[in-house]
Amino acid sequence: MREYELVAGLETHVELSTKTKIFCGCTTAFGGEPNTHCCPICIGLPGVLPKLNRQVVRYGILAGLATNCRINPVSKMDRKNYVYPDLPKAYQVSQYDKPLCLDGYITLDSGKKIRLTRIHIEEDAGKLVHERGDTFVDYNRGGVPLIEVVTEPDFRSVDEVREYVEKLQLLMKYIGVSDCKMQEGSLRCDVNISVRPKGSQALGTRTEIKNMNSFAFMAKALEYEFERQVDLLESGEPVVQETLRYNDVTGETESMRSKEDAHDYRYFKEPDLVTIRTSQEEIEALRALLPELPDRKKARYLAMGINEGDAAALIRSRKVAEFFDEAAEGLKMPKTAAAFIVGQMFNRYSTEAQRDAWETPVTPAQLHELCLLVESGKCNRNLAKTTFEKMMDTGKSAHEFLSADDLAGIDEGRLREICQKVIAENASVVHSYLGGKETALKALVGAVMRETRGRADAAKATQLLIDSLKKE
Ligand code: ADP
Ligand code: MG
Ligand code: ZN
Repeated sequence: MREYELVAGLETHVELSTKTKIFCGCTTAFGGEPNTHCCPICIGLPGVLPKLNRQVVRYGILAGLATNCRINPVSKMDRKNYVYPDLPKAYQVSQYDKPLCLDGYITLDSGKKIRLTRIHIEEDAGKLVHERGDTFVDYNRGGVPLIEVVTEPDFRSVDEVREYVEKLQLLMKYIGVSDCKMQEGSLRCDVNISVRPKGSQALGTRTEIKNMNSFAFMAKALEYEFERQVDLLESGEPVVQETLRYNDVTGETESMRSKEDAHDYRYFKEPDLVTIRTSQEEIEALRALLPELPDRKKARYLAMGINEGDAAALIRSRKVAEFFDEAAEGLKMPKTAAAFIVGQMFNRYSTEAQRDAWETPVTPAQLHELCLLVESGKCNRNLAKTTFEKMMDTGKSAHEFLSADDLAGIDEGRLREICQKVIAENASVVHSYLGGKETALKALVGAVMRETRGRADAAKATQLLIDSLKKE
């Protein structure tokens, strides 16, 4: 059998988190009683006039700038005509030949660039709800603003698709244009896929799997569709260009409709809306609003001596990263602050939602203060750990829990005495250590820590114990 290569391109719909819809003042809030977030404009009654929400254009431009796009100085809205019950006007207002953003890219960790063909703005449609054998329609989502991010067919594996979607999601969250919740449908992907013999440059015929809103299903659907197309080609049958749906019960893709071409939609300029003109000054003013983006943050963290895993974990939420930035500012060893966050704080705030919200009573300044105590050797790591737990419980500062005595630490002479005492009092443990049982040492260190109520530096105590025992 010949070897085949997967070729995929993605169209990702991201719901923008503007307060109001794209052409009217209705709320964009998720959920709500069906058909309560609606007005004559967003259910498309005849004769109403849409008015473009400026914030949608700003968010679209921000998304383009964050993904290295060129912003189109002249852009316009078009009608895409089709009949389906989720769209009572029988056309969706979208963008056809003059999208807001062009020619961007997102860089994967391997350095490979996934090219973005375009980003355009459009309105979402309503939602069909299938219940008790009937189909209902809820127009609350109708008119919610979307951006559609279209890539070139640059993906060669499921992993690349996944990494791209995760990066896009994180970028959009960072710049604040969307919450990108896949489970609520605010980020949905249409996956276009074809296969070709390895080494071939020509593109094969593709199919499109619509509306994937989970990473797990996306991976399964891609794998299934890859195998299916390879089987077809191997048995000499053509792949039919069509639109598919992934059935998560059977794990198979099934046909929704044959693929329509652009000319089937009879695109034309939306006559009720004005042309969108964007000046260079407006673009620069928006660029100035962009925060430091995740890839750059991560590179900076690595340069600060943070390890790869901690750096990747810190940037997963903008609030966490900014908390770290503030806490680590001016520290000799920023990785101390990273360790408190990725270790103890992430233990407590373990879900993605908790890390996104990052509601913690500890302030960055309080963590900074604790890190200074550790750096200066006034507070050993064990004591700092238990203190930090108390800080997270109460929101109080480290010095509330550390007496002057604690902070004085234990000087080396005193520690040596305590080690001697522990050795004298634990003859049998000492005996087994000297007999070759290395782990017995841990018990002795434990005894020293108990004796000093955790104030001793465990590493130093270990060394002193080893030194004394050598002389035994
Ligand atoms: P449409 O809007 O009709 O779905 P486009 O031609 O603009 O179509 O392509 C949509 C997506 O399909 C893009 O992400 C593109 O990269 C991808 N694509 C196009 N041709 C192929 C192909 N042969 N194999 C895989 N993906 C493809
Ligand atoms: Mg498409
Ligand atoms: Zn409305």
